[in-house]
Amino acid sequence: MSTFTCHYCEGQIPLAGNRPGGRATCPHCGVQADVPYAPPGAEAGPPRRAPQATQMFGAAQAANDAGNMALIFGVLGLFVCAIMGPIAIMKGNESKALAYDAGVPTPGTAVAGLVCGWITTILLIAGLGMFCLFFGLAILGGSM
Ligand SMILES: [Zn+2]
Repeated sequence: MSTFTCHYCEGQIPLAGNRPGGRATCPHCGVQADVPYAPPGAEAGPPRRAPQATQMFGAAQAANDAGNMALIFGVLGLFVCAIMGPIAIMKGNESKALAYDAGVPTPGTAVAGLVCGWITTILLIAGLGMFCLFFGLAILGGSM
């Protein structure tokens, strides 16, 4: 079966049933793609605004993904294991940087992840401090 390349997601769209020069719905991303006149195999030149659009989409998507990870680790850090806190901060900052590069606002998930991450990390440090304090006092108490 012959296919052509979607200008948006660069997925393969079956040519069967689509009129050359008409429009076909991409099965991968759902965008209305132009059906090329040229027979498949003979690529109809480089796509015009496709690379930039794909790149922008990719970067914004990466920022969102990192933001989601930040939120997941942030929540896990708060409720499950505090070790996740610093990871949430890392992912949140990564998401912020990616969003900045893509020219899109920082995803809300990244901000939420960062907040959870910082709370968790502060609690973790405070907890470790308390632990050392009690442990130290216990040693002191035992030796006296
Ligand atoms: Zn597509």
